[in-house]
Amino acid sequence: MVRVLVTKSGGKGFHVKGSFAIEYPRWVESRLDFSERFTTDDERMALVMRLATQQAIAHTGGPFTAAVFDGDRLVSVGMNLVEVTKNPMLHGPIVALMKAHEVSGLMDLGADRRSQYALYTGCQPCGMCTAAILLSGIPRLVYGASEKDVEAILDMERASPDLGLLREAGVEIVGNVLAAEGVRALQAYEHGCGANYNPRRRSKRR
Ligand SMILES: [Zn+2]
Repeated sequence: MVRVLVTKSGGKGFHVKGSFAIEYPRWVESRLDFSERFTTDDERMALVMRLATQQAIAHTGGPFTAAVFDGDRLVSVGMNLVEVTKNPMLHGPIVALMKAHEVSGLMDLGADRRSQYALYTGCQPCGMCTAAILLSGIPRLVYGASEKDVEAILDMERASPDLGLLREAGVEIVGNVLAAEGVRALQAYEHGCGANYNPRRRSKRR
């Protein structure tokens, strides 16, 4: 959970004390094997899809899951934690990137030339996550379902997703990896009446 501790301090006003902490849902740890090697984009994306399935089974949030790999090695995972934390910024790709920065100790995931960091997301990232990808410095993005798929299935604000920013910055982008599975995850969420965690769903909502 994300916590902000605010304490009153002797007549000098309020001080924000403590730290932010983000906890993964309990099921996550048992689903990960960091000794496993993932040699292809399909294998890495398959892990992201398995996380989406488990997220749906456990009812811990939307089907937007992600993972960061360094070559064939799993570095971190992320899933949408908006509902469980009441924090609209905690999208799957952002959680995965935040954890990757912590694990690697790097502020710029593109700075270490010996590494091959890449972010895998079940569907094309929204505008907020696209900006976070840019700021993270991660040099490669692999996604499954396209923005068109997301628009056709879900009805929520996506904050102007535009991968042009990333292309201009030289980020390698690969789309349509296990896209059919990504579409199925989105459909399962929509048909399961996932919580509307976005206050400004578009008017086309039927
Ligand atoms: Zn996002």
